[in-house]
Amino acid sequence: MTPQHAKPDPAAGAAVKAADRAHVFHSWSAQELIDPLAVAGAEGSYFWDYDGNRYLDFASGLVFTNIGYQHPKVVAAIQEQAGRLATFAPAFAIEARSEAARLIAERTPGDLDKIFFTNGGAEAVENAARMARVHTGRPKILSAYRSYHGATNAAIHLTGDPRRWASDTGAAATVHFWAPFLYRTPFYSESEQQECERALAHLADTIAFEGPGTIAAVILETIPGTAGIMPPPPGYLAGVRELCDQHGILLVLDEVMAGFGRTGTWFAADLYDVVPDLLTFAKGVNSGYVPLGGVAISGAVAETFARRPYPGGLTYSGHPLACAAAVATIEAMAEEGIVEHAAKLGETVLGPGLRALAERHPSVGEVRGVGAFWALELVRDRTTREPLVPYNASGADNAPMAAFAGAAKQRGLWPFVNMNRTHVVPPCNLGEAEAKEGLAALDEALTVADEHTV
Ligand code: PLP
Repeated sequence: MTPQHAKPDPAAGAAVKAADRAHVFHSWSAQELIDPLAVAGAEGSYFWDYDGNRYLDFASGLVFTNIGYQHPKVVAAIQEQAGRLATFAPAFAIEARSEAARLIAERTPGDLDKIFFTNGGAEAVENAARMARVHTGRPKILSAYRSYHGATNAAIHLTGDPRRWASDTGAAATVHFWAPFLYRTPFYSESEQQECERALAHLADTIAFEGPGTIAAVILETIPGTAGIMPPPPGYLAGVRELCDQHGILLVLDEVMAGFGRTGTWFAADLYDVVPDLLTFAKGVNSGYVPLGGVAISGAVAETFARRPYPGGLTYSGHPLACAAAVATIEAMAEEGIVEHAAKLGETVLGPGLRALAERHPSVGEVRGVGAFWALELVRDRTTREPLVPYNASGADNAPMAAFAGAAKQRGLWPFVNMNRTHVVPPCNLGEAEAKEGLAALDEALTVADEHTV
C-alpha cells in the first residue's frame, strides 16, 4: 500500500530503472549482477516503489535515517538555507556551520569541542588518522578485524571486513587485532568478564610487539556496526583507554554508525563513560539528508594545530546545506525526544520482541543490541553456532540469506543483511505499532531461514 498521493506508475519506474542500468555505476557491486529497486518516494519509516509496493525500512537506508525520511523540519531547513545561502567556501564563518558545530560539540563527550567537517564517514576516519599521526609523530594505527571504517585509503586499510582485501596494499601502517565478541570468541572465553580480560591482554601484547612508540592511535567502533553490532563487555573500552594513556597512544572512537541517537544515547560512548581523543561521526548527524560527517577533536589535539596549520582540508568542509540539515536534525531530535525514544524502544519493544523471536526460531543463534541498534546472528546449528552461510559467502553459498531477505521483502519489510546476520536498525523514532508490524514480518521471514537449519 502506498500513500494516497503516490499512485503506482510502473512505466515511470521502468524508465528510472533503465537509465540506472545504462549509466549508474553502483558501490561494491558486480554491475551486471544487480537489480536495484526503483524507489518512487519515502516518508517516515517507509518507502515505496513505482509498482504499488511499500516497505517498512528496518535498515534506515544504510543505517543513517535516524529521524526517518522527509522529516518536515529538516526538509524546510534545507529549503530555507538554499534560498538564503546555498553554498560558501570553507574558510569563512557561516551561521549554519557555526551553529552545527556548536550543537555537536555540546553533545559530544568530554572536551571534544572542536569540529572538523567532512562529506561523510570515510573522510572523517581519514582525517582522524591524519590528526593522530601528526599529533603523535607516530605512523601506525591499530584497528579491529571485525570492523568497517569506510572505503577511502586510510579508512579501507583500517577496515577489518573482507571489503578491505582488494584495496589492501599492506603498506598503510595499519595493524589489526581481535576485539571482544563472546559469541564467536577468538579467546576461548566462557564469560563476558573473561572475554574482556583476554581481549585487553591481547591488545596489550599487540601494542608491546608492534612497539608502543610506533603507534599513533587505536581506532574502534564504540559498538561495531556492520561487522555485527557487538556491544563490548563492561570494562573493555575503559581498559583500552587506560592502555592508550599508558603509551601516549590516541583513542579514536568511530561513531559514524553508532552515534546520534542510534544506541538510545547521543553517542554510544555515553553508555560506557569513555572519552576518546577523537570521535568520528556522519550518517545520523543529519540523517543523511545532505552528505555530512566530521571529527570531534579534544583540547590536546586541537592545541597541536593551534599555531601550526592542519595539513588537510576539503572544498565542502561544513557545506551550508548539510550543516543547516544537521542543525534542524539535532533540534528535532531534542524537541521530539527521539534519543530517549530509541532507548525505550530497545528496552520495551525491540529487545523483548527479538528475544521472543529467538525462542521460536532455531535459526536465531543470538540477539544483541541496544536502542535501535540490534543484530540477529543466524545459524545453521545453534549448538555449534555454525553460521547460516559461510563467512563472506556469495552466489549459491549465500542462498539461505538471500531467501530470508526475499521473504522479508515479500512481507513489506526491508531488512539489513550482512553475511549471516540481519540487523534491526530502523529509524530511532519508529513507532511502537510500526515496530510490531516489522517484528511480525520478521517472524514470518525467519521461518524461511529455519528451513536451512540442521
Ligand atoms: N565508519 C563506520 C563505523 C561506518 O559504519 C561507515 C559506513 O557505514 C563508515 C565509517 C564510512 O562512512 P561513509 O560510507 O559515509 O564514508
